[in-house]
Amino acid sequence: MTNLSGASEAPAISGNATPESVDVAIIGGGLGGLALAAGLRRRGIDAHVFEAAPRLRNETSTMISLGPNAWVALQELHPDLPADLRWRGVEDCQVITRLRPPPGCGLEPTTIDRPGAATRLTTIRWAETQDALALLVPDEVVHCDHAAAGYTEEWGPAAEVGAEAAAGSGSGCGGAEEGAASVEAAAAAGRGPARSVLVHFRGGQPSVRAKLAVGADGIFSAIRAAMHPHEPPPRYLGHMNWNCLLHNPGGNTVVDAHKPGQVIFTSDGAVSASERREPSLMSYVCDAGGGYTFWQVRMQYEQPSFTVDLLRRQQREQEGRPQQQEEAEQEEQDNGGADEGSANVIIGGGGAGRRGRGGMGVPGSKARCLERLKAAGWDPMVPLVAATPEAAVFERALYDRLPLAEGQWAAPGRRVVLLGDSAHGMHPGPGQGARSAFEDAHQLALALEALWPDVPAAVERYLRARVTRANRVQRFASESCGLAAVRQAAAPPGLSPAQLWDRSFEFRAWFDQYPANMHGDPASTYWKPPPPSLSSEAAAAEAEAAAEGAAGGEGEAVEKEGEVPALAARKEEAAAAAAGTDGADLVSGGDGIGTTDVKADGAVVQVRVVAHDGGCNGRAAGAADGEGEDATGGGGGGAKVAAKGQGPAAGGGGGGGVQVTLAVVQAV
Ligand SMILES: Cc1cc2nc3c(=O)[nH]c(=O)nc-3n(C[C@H](O)[C@H](O)[C@H](O)COP(=O)(O)OP(=O)(O)OC[C@H]3O[C@@H](n4cnc5c(N)ncnc54)[C@H](O)[C@@H]3O)c2cc1C
Repeated sequence: MTNLSGASEAPAISGNATPESVDVAIIGGGLGGLALAAGLRRRGIDAHVFEAAPRLRNETSTMISLGPNAWVALQELHPDLPADLRWRGVEDCQVITRLRPPPGCGLEPTTIDRPGAATRLTTIRWAETQDALALLVPDEVVHCDHAAAGYTEEWGPAAEVGAEAAAGSGSGCGGAEEGAASVEAAAAAGRGPARSVLVHFRGGQPSVRAKLAVGADGIFSAIRAAMHPHEPPPRYLGHMNWNCLLHNPGGNTVVDAHKPGQVIFTSDGAVSASERREPSLMSYVCDAGGGYTFWQVRMQYEQPSFTVDLLRRQQREQEGRPQQQEEAEQEEQDNGGADEGSANVIIGGGGAGRRGRGGMGVPGSKARCLERLKAAGWDPMVPLVAATPEAAVFERALYDRLPLAEGQWAAPGRRVVLLGDSAHGMHPGPGQGARSAFEDAHQLALALEALWPDVPAAVERYLRARVTRANRVQRFASESCGLAAVRQAAAPPGLSPAQLWDRSFEFRAWFDQYPANMHGDPASTYWKPPPPSLSSEAAAAEAEAAAEGAAGGEGEAVEKEGEVPALAARKEEAAAAAAGTDGADLVSGGDGIGTTDVKADGAVVQVRVVAHDGGCNGRAAGAADGEGEDATGGGGGGAKVAAKGQGPAAGGGGGGGVQVTLAVVQAV
């Protein structure tokens, strides 16, 4: 049996008895939780998954994109994963970016066409990814209908502290040093180290004892809420999003949407070397594999704008009811509801009933998308959306989490730790949410394998490996968001559009080197590793201050001022090295340095690749962006494009670790 997303219905496995104790209790059976479970079980660790839903959810109407960092992490978690995922998805997609700024704004429409060999972008349905991961985790260790409510770390008696410290928390391989923090914390609190954790569930399910609990329960994490009860809820990022998967074999069976292997990104934003217009409307159409077309429409709103609210307001106005009555009703409904927001939270097929809630099939959502697309004159999108059943359209607001400092990813006893969106939920612009969750899972699996059974030591190692990097990625992702204040606070102040492109390009060049240069690329200008004095705690504090509109970004501003000339020198060197190389490399998989022509509206544009991602192993380019949308938003575009000469201002391709300079050479 298949559902609207085209994935097989996951077996109902809510009947599994709750175990009394397990090695590792993974809370959440999404992409991060299942990836960790697969990696740990392969390493002989008894990991169990506790999932709130009655079955592993597989109807999200979402697609994700994967690139080099994800492949490295997945390969090491389980060697069967990359081949299976590549088979289910579409590899090396061609990315077409259409920048359509409104007439009269001073920026020209531009189309950039990037061949598949240059993108290294794999598209795959979220549900297929989850299914591939779930296949590697035995059904009997996946416990659905287990919604975690919180946890209790169980501490040993104070007398254990001295022995524990002397024994280095019982481990070799650096365990003494790495476990020391939790031992010290215990000593300071007048108790022994934490020995285990009890995870509590809603609905009367018995608690489970574990050596480690991992909060992989998404952006609205209950485990994070228990860890940080006074923290504000996830932050709305200024974008409403509608996405859908439509069975449309060949990309043209139901409606003519795309060619096989194509990704088409359209935005009303645009960038030139000196100007930048932030998008207010974006669409994304692509081949999602398995005969499915994925489409997505994103609109900018200062406040969450759920269709259910709009319709309710209209109805109230028609009926002449007072606004206060509506607000009282909404408050009552809000208090009873579950949260919406992460990639795979489904609020029911019949449409969302509560204020501030999205979900599948919200009545009126499709008409809303159609109206906006027509108003913008984006005619190619209209038949596609019109052909889609409303029941398959998923409406959501986009949120992130403010960065946490290193120690805050774990409970004091180091028996509970966060992973994936619960630790670093981010704007999907650069397409790094799931990829970062896979990196988390990879690093936690490696740490536990190396240091087991010294869980606190392994957790410390995981925190050191992950937090600084994840915070930087998350902060960069917020540059793609729809709220100007958040976007501007996230980027270093004072950068020109051209410098933001440089930075965006360098982000990809750094990120795809994973696991090398974990916290920064020493050869880069904008993404150098933070100095030792700028610990991840300080980095998180800085990011938080920036996010709140305070004077963040100082460190990067210094880097910028001091080193932009160095970047320019590196570019010149690369360009000199490129002289005489054949531009066909861009498409043929050579080293990618050289020139090639791409089509832009009304012109043939020569693309000169002057440098590319050092981590791309001699191929033409690095991975393309998750959603390719950052070409105009400055978030992780990965392809740095600047216009030269006359003709249309150039925009950026949909990501990829290629740095290109465009020169218009011939009008057609
Ligand atoms: C529109 C959109 C596009 C995206 N595109 C990309 C992309 O191109 N590339 C990319 O890398 N990422 C992308 N992402 C991000 C990616 O989907 C997420 O980062 C990723 O799914 C996070 O995985 P996770 O396991 O941390 O959380 P989730 O996948 O959200 O899983 C959390 C799980 O925990 C369960 N759960 C929740 N509460 C509880 C509880 N109390 N107890 C037990 N279980 C619970 C949920 O039911 C769910 O199964 C996109 C996201 C969105 C919204």
